[in-house]
Amino acid sequence: MRNILNIKKYPDKILKAKCAPVKVVDDKTRDILSDMIFTMHAVSGIGLAAPQIGIKKQIAVVDVGKGPLCLINPKVIGQSGKSTIEEGCLSINDAIIKVKRSENVKVNAIDESGKNVTVNASGLLATVIQHEIDHLNGTLILDHAGFFKKKSLKIKFLNRKKRKAKKVL
Ligand code: ZN
Repeated sequence: MRNILNIKKYPDKILKAKCAPVKVVDDKTRDILSDMIFTMHAVSGIGLAAPQIGIKKQIAVVDVGKGPLCLINPKVIGQSGKSTIEEGCLSINDAIIKVKRSENVKVNAIDESGKNVTVNASGLLATVIQHEIDHLNGTLILDHAGFFKKKSLKIKFLNRKKRKAKKVL
C-alpha cells in the first residue's frame, strides 16, 4: 500500500527552491517515485514534482494517460515550435494561467532503474514535462503570468489567507 502524500500549496517556500540533482537512484528514490505516482493518480493530476511533496530533489513524474513516466535530473536538450496552453497546478488552487512553451521538447533524464533516457515529447506531454522541470527550478505558472494577472491572483491568495487566519483566531 502506497501513501498519498501531502501536496505543498503556494505560497509554501519550498515551491521556490532550486532542487538538487539525484546522485544515486536507489530503493529510497524508487519509494519516493512510487508514492509520487500513487499521489498523482489519487488527485487526478498529470504531473507531480518532488518539491510539491516537500523534497528538494530533481525528481518528477508525469502521466498524460499513457502510463507513468519517471524523470530524474531531467534536462531539456532540444526544443522547437511554440504552444500556449491554459495550465493549472496542484500546488495552486483555482489558478488557470496561459503559459507559452515549446511545442516539442527533447529531454534527457534518468529513469527509475538508473538508466539514461532520452524522451521526445510533443503537445500535452511536452507541456507537462516543461511544467514539472519548472518546478525543479523553483518556477511556478504564476511566474509566467502577466503583471496584472499576477497582481490579481496575489490579492486573491492574500485575501484567502486573511480569511483563514480569522477562522483560526
Ligand atoms: Zn505544478
